Amino acid sequence: TLMEMEKLVSLCKRRGFLFQSSEIYGGLNGFWDYGPLGVELKRNIKNAWWQDMVTGHDELAIPAGAPTTYEMTGLDCTIIMHPQVWKCSGHFDLFCDMMVDCKETKKLYRFDQLRGRWVSAQGKKVRLQPKVISEGVQQIQGDEIERLFVTSLAEAEEEAGDLQRRALKAFNLRAKDAEVLEWHESVMTLDKLDSLECVFAPEANSVGTLNGPREFKLMFPTTIGALAGEEGRAFLRPETAQGIFVNFKNVLDSTRVKIPFGIAQIGKSFRNEITPRNFTFRSREFEQMEIEFFCHPEESRKWYEYWRDRRMQWYTDLGLAGERLRLREHDKDELSHYSVGTADIEYAFPFLSEGEYGELEGIAHRGDFDLRSHMEGKLVKNAKGCLEVELGEDGKPKYRGSGRDLQYRDEVTNDRFTPHVIEPSAGADRGALAFLCEAYTEDSAPDDKGQMQTRVVMKFHPRIAPIKAAVFPLVKKDGMPEVAQEIYRALKKRFPAFYDEKGAVGRRYRRQDEAGTPYCITVDGQSLTDNTVTIRDRDTLEQWRVKVDDVVEEVSDRVS
Ligand code: ATP
Repeated sequence: TLMEMEKLVSLCKRRGFLFQSSEIYGGLNGFWDYGPLGVELKRNIKNAWWQDMVTGHDELAIPAGAPTTYEMTGLDCTIIMHPQVWKCSGHFDLFCDMMVDCKETKKLYRFDQLRGRWVSAQGKKVRLQPKVISEGVQQIQGDEIERLFVTSLAEAEEEAGDLQRRALKAFNLRAKDAEVLEWHESVMTLDKLDSLECVFAPEANSVGTLNGPREFKLMFPTTIGALAGEEGRAFLRPETAQGIFVNFKNVLDSTRVKIPFGIAQIGKSFRNEITPRNFTFRSREFEQMEIEFFCHPEESRKWYEYWRDRRMQWYTDLGLAGERLRLREHDKDELSHYSVGTADIEYAFPFLSEGEYGELEGIAHRGDFDLRSHMEGKLVKNAKGCLEVELGEDGKPKYRGSGRDLQYRDEVTNDRFTPHVIEPSAGADRGALAFLCEAYTEDSAPDDKGQMQTRVVMKFHPRIAPIKAAVFPLVKKDGMPEVAQEIYRALKKRFPAFYDEKGAVGRRYRRQDEAGTPYCITVDGQSLTDNTVTIRDRDTLEQWRVKVDDVVEEVSDRVS
């Protein structure tokens, strides 16, 4: 529920999982920092992914459900790449959103051109009937507008007020008709009001064809060196995938990998989202964990099914079991223009309404679209439904590809082909958010006086818990701190551990419960006579005694 979400958001700040970026300056919409606990959580998620997908993968054995054995390797590419990469991939022309306000559903929709579908402002995929779209467009031309696309400049109310007044005047509206909605920062200033008007201008809204709604480029532009204008213009990557495609040949030539094989990459991506919201779910700077899996075209469907199921299993194994997690196969009309099949792994985040799910990861069958684009140039679908190079007005390719041969030659059969690609594309931040939501639990536990009290506990899977164990001396005397510190130092060599000797022991347990620490080790009076300590289990609250010499092994076994 929303209340659960509010509690989680406040815990994240209070305990140092997540902070608003640049908070002391009022924050920056769509940007988030990971605090001392958050950084460990996110790192654990990325490490678990890398270990399970790349370094821990056994290329000699056929994994359950896989058609054959396969190899996995990694890459770490730059955030800024040659601008031609984005022209050929389609992002330069297509990676933008269009907005429309639908009177009927009272919702703001954006059109994701790359995927060719409407999504709600929350990012939920929606299917709008053309009728509804045209009504939406008509309605925003009329004088019955109930909601207005105006910025919510919460921090600068004066300016927002002025903007609102001018917008109201421009559309001849009464103040009560307008409800201020969030809007893109590029129209947040008064001098942009003119461009705002074009959203509503009748001639710009050719009803039913969607030409009208305003476009928002989602790629962040930047400038390289001192070159002015077009020449120095570059972009921050909106996905990590393209770095893998353009290095396909390098990986083949520098390793001995044979098809089928996958290349994995973890890294930052940037999208100038129109409506960043729902905590870190839709951010403007985020981290992706992507695999491009190259296979023979004839095998690609089997591999798609394998990766879809394997990725779903990964989340389940790390504790996202239960009905909040689901795998949703896209309908035919939802598929990107190049895709044969796509499935989303989704989670019912508490900030979504009942029955709504948010995407954690997409697994897409991309055919040979990407490698061909980087060989030949930007591709479009022709009348027959086949991909061909898009031509410019001069009849030449609109964007030229690299001209490099990115085909694969099978050494045994001598067969030459452009590999097909299966792409499991996950967001590390959305994963972290789902794990945080899933972990948040309220139950009851006895306090120092034995009274039952409500406790907040983050039930993380031990693999992703930020701190694996905490060590407490029951009291700060009789040599207990010394024994506890020795255990603490031994644990620290293996994994993040925490030492705490301040305050009542019940309080100390409670603090570790909120941090999601699976085990607390306490040195008490008995420890000094028989050399044993207690270990407390975060979830069951069970306590048992273990020899001091066995503590490290016991905890290590349980958290790995
Ligand atoms: P959405 O429809 O929610 O915008 P998408 O379908 O555009 O997502 P992809 O382009 O498939 O997302 O990106 C792959 C993954 O990257 C997503 O499943 C998600 O986990 C993550 N991701 C994409 N955009 C964002 C964002 N703005 N903030 C955080 N994570 C994101």
